[in-house]
Amino acid sequence: MSKIIAITNQKGGVGKTTTSVNLGACLASLGKKVLLVDIDPQGNTTSGVGVNKADVENSIYDVLINDVNPQAAVLSTAIPGLSIIPATIQLAGAEIELVPTISREVRLKKSLMQVKQDYDYILIDCPPSLGILTINSLTASDSVIIPIQCEYYALEGLSQLLNTVRLVQKHLNTSLQIEGVLLTMFDARTNLGIQVIEEVKKYFQQKVYQTIIPRNVRLSEAPSHGQAIITYDPKSKGAEVYLELAKEVIMYEQAAR
Ligand code: ADP
Ligand code: MG
Repeated sequence: MSKIIAITNQKGGVGKTTTSVNLGACLASLGKKVLLVDIDPQGNTTSGVGVNKADVENSIYDVLINDVNPQAAVLSTAIPGLSIIPATIQLAGAEIELVPTISREVRLKKSLMQVKQDYDYILIDCPPSLGILTINSLTASDSVIIPIQCEYYALEGLSQLLNTVRLVQKHLNTSLQIEGVLLTMFDARTNLGIQVIEEVKKYFQQKVYQTIIPRNVRLSEAPSHGQAIITYDPKSKGAEVYLELAKEVIMYEQAAR
């Protein structure tokens, strides 16, 4: 069985890209076949797994706008089992270019249907907005992972996000589910972080992953080396927790079956 998961939150800097790269890499290291889909024009997931954007021939832009077969855009990475459909800055134009097109919300879904069977997990790294690229991602997905940064304004903007999820469920993708809520950048030295965890758990209850991602400087260094944390520093706390998260994701899937 294969599963498409959108990693989404319209806030920037909450850990979407870090989670896409490292959850993807850890799932692959546990033997799963994983495809990352970078649908953020900033292309941080693309460079985060070591792809040089200047060398990209076909990107997610070509898949969405030029009807390029998604398989022709897939690149392998240094991690066995982990592939990526990259994004370049060209994607920034897609929000506008998609507006007048027919069935613009289902373009990604139609493309990913062609490759879904080849992977155990397809993880879509969403941009920091609720625009057409995020709508495409939610429409194409079986479920969403929502990373939430352990900070004062953690829950702000979440009702907007959940409203968008509900609208997509109603009009475009009735089977869309919330896979899980992931607390990120936890700092054990502050009381605030603990308060935020309690607040988020009260709101999302059992949907919150047991694994909490702490602040770990190695996680923030790895992207500039084009590496996932499990290859950049396999002994780091960051590697340990993302591996734990990957096991939790697999466990919930087995429990659901
Ligand atoms: P988003 O994709 O939601 O914008 P990122 O994953 O790019 O967020 O994270 C924002 C910044 O925070 C990046 O510089 C990233 O390296 C850093 N970061 C993310 N998670 C952690 C963490 N657990 N510990 C330390 N730094 C982190
Ligand atoms: Mg990002």
